[in-house]
Amino acid sequence: MSRYTGPVCRLCRRESERLFLKGERCYTDKCAIGRRAKSMAPGQHGANAKKLKGYGTQLREKQKAKRIYGVHETQFENTFRKAEKQDGMAGVNLLVLLERRIDNVVYKMGMAESRKEARQLVTHGHFKLNGKKANIPSMMIKLNDVVSLSERSRSLPKIKELIENLSNKQTVRWLDLDKNDISVKVSALPTREDVDFPFQEHLIVELYSK
Ligand code: SF4
Repeated sequence: MSRYTGPVCRLCRRESERLFLKGERCYTDKCAIGRRAKSMAPGQHGANAKKLKGYGTQLREKQKAKRIYGVHETQFENTFRKAEKQDGMAGVNLLVLLERRIDNVVYKMGMAESRKEARQLVTHGHFKLNGKKANIPSMMIKLNDVVSLSERSRSLPKIKELIENLSNKQTVRWLDLDKNDISVKVSALPTREDVDFPFQEHLIVELYSK
């Protein structure tokens, strides 16, 4: 299945909710969803929003997670099946596995404005995992892994700009950022509390349990 290449804001409009797919812009008045929410009375979640229940809410929750992490349908289901086989709650395991993707790590270390940009940086070969080429966005990081910017990428104008912006960024609890080396060490694996979107993951579990 091909990747969606249309306007990303349309994906938020489809969910009637901010999915934060465009970085800084999502936190400003330029966000169409934000503007619309301000102009409406509390509780009215979009004049045309349909009242969903059952299968509809489960499907929408899965679509939100897929869109936020930028994962294809098959890959998303495969990740869920892997999560199911792990100890603990499948929904939580799923979110943790999505957080452990290397494109998400590049996003969370502050080298990209969005996961989409992080995925591009990874596929273009700008990052290494434990010193080795890592150009597959779905690669999973493990405890103590090191994700670093490739030496040969550092002189590229676009990358230089991203490095300059890095000094203003804060990274997350489970990553130790070395701003000189432009690398992060995975000092802990992410947990449910580290997922920064209010997913109702039980709905995704219910969907795949049918
Ligand atoms: Fe979604 Fe961000 Fe576009 Fe707002 S600006 S609609 S949050 S992608």
